[in-house]
Amino acid sequence: SKIKSCLRGSALTIATIIGVFSGVFLGLALRQRETRWTEREIMYITYPGELFLRMLKALILPLIVPSLIAAVGSLDMRFSGKVGARAVGYYMTTTVLAVILGIILVTCIHPGGQTSGETVRVGESRNVTAADTLMDLARNFVPPNIVQATVAHYRTILKYPGDEAYTDENGQFRDPKNFYTWKITGQYKDETNILGLVFFSVFLGITLAIMEERGKPLIDFFTCLSQAMMTITTWVIYLAPGGVFFLIGGQVLEMEDMTEVAGQLGLYFCTVLGGLFFHGFVVLPAIYLLLTREMPFKFIANMTNAMTTAFGTASSSATLPVTINLLEEKNGVDPRICRFVLPIGATINMDGTALYEAVAAIFIAQVRNMQLSLGQVIAISITATAASIGAAGIPQAGLVTMVMVLETVGLPAEDVTLILAVDWLLDRFRTAINVLGDSFGASLVYHLSKKELEAFN
Ligand code: ASP
Repeated sequence: SKIKSCLRGSALTIATIIGVFSGVFLGLALRQRETRWTEREIMYITYPGELFLRMLKALILPLIVPSLIAAVGSLDMRFSGKVGARAVGYYMTTTVLAVILGIILVTCIHPGGQTSGETVRVGESRNVTAADTLMDLARNFVPPNIVQATVAHYRTILKYPGDEAYTDENGQFRDPKNFYTWKITGQYKDETNILGLVFFSVFLGITLAIMEERGKPLIDFFTCLSQAMMTITTWVIYLAPGGVFFLIGGQVLEMEDMTEVAGQLGLYFCTVLGGLFFHGFVVLPAIYLLLTREMPFKFIANMTNAMTTAFGTASSSATLPVTINLLEEKNGVDPRICRFVLPIGATINMDGTALYEAVAAIFIAQVRNMQLSLGQVIAISITATAASIGAAGIPQAGLVTMVMVLETVGLPAEDVTLILAVDWLLDRFRTAINVLGDSFGASLVYHLSKKELEAFN
């Protein structure tokens, strides 16, 4: 029966890969129609995929919160601290490596060419400074109320005052050229604030661990709940092949004509893609090999379904249930480590996003004919790292936090439009690499903590 279940597992993986490719084909085939597809028609085609996505999202809250509480609650605090430190060490190292790789590639390949772009225009509202992004990150860590955190993610918005400077009704001076006079407004986005939930769950878990015997009933409760949710996850994963088929089919149908994406933008696309592949399939596996002395091929193959789901949904958060499931069931990572480390990783560890942020910012500088000093390149690497940490695990979140990277070198926020045409596609690739990076991380932390974990049992 072991062979049978193994076969069944790979059948699902193969089916999902087929789902991805036939989704692309479906989209391309449907595009042959003479008349444009209407939004409504595209919605009908994407609809089964939408249902799959909704199911995955529905799992996040009841799976992640109890899993984290139970995982942290069943370890002792000193050990949790060590596990957490190892995870953060891995996240930082790999993210910085990704940024450096991106910078090297974009500098050597120089996709931005020498021509200068059209004039820069300031748009309606823009997305904040580095300080705002970091403060939003911390704000999301501490939601004002835990129930609200399940439905809303906070973000600061700066309002463009209009083309002319003026003094508003409260005597405040507003000047489009002086960023500091723009109106600051907060905004709740209709997305789960996973970071806030993670923060809360870790603290509740730690507290239950401290309470020892008295905390036990609640830990048992959450353990049971997380096991039940894990079983449901297994069922939902069976829907992945169909889900990604329709999601990708609809997206391919919807996309702008890509024939225009030649020249600079095409080269930029290839630079990011090459970097992502190199990071995910060379750098990370090498680290894995170095630390575990095990070949990484099987590990990666076992994670395929998570990567295709990430590609289909463009969201590492939505993919989280799949990632956890595969890591535990197929790669044998201990649930206490996996469920502790992964939810945190999925929200703050984004190697693919970090690489993309660095490449994109430097590409835009190249297009704008802007010479970057060494100091500016270093500033880009630091903010690209911060921007990847700040990005939520939702579609194109990286594009939003990119503004802060542009800001540090004085490029206008609106210049993200230069890379917009290909961003939806790059988003899917970087999400897959984000998920792969999280998986390697959880596995490595498990590997490094194995002895202590055994002593703990
Ligand atoms: N979509 C990515 C993710 O969920 C984030 C990004 O936009 O880079 O991991």
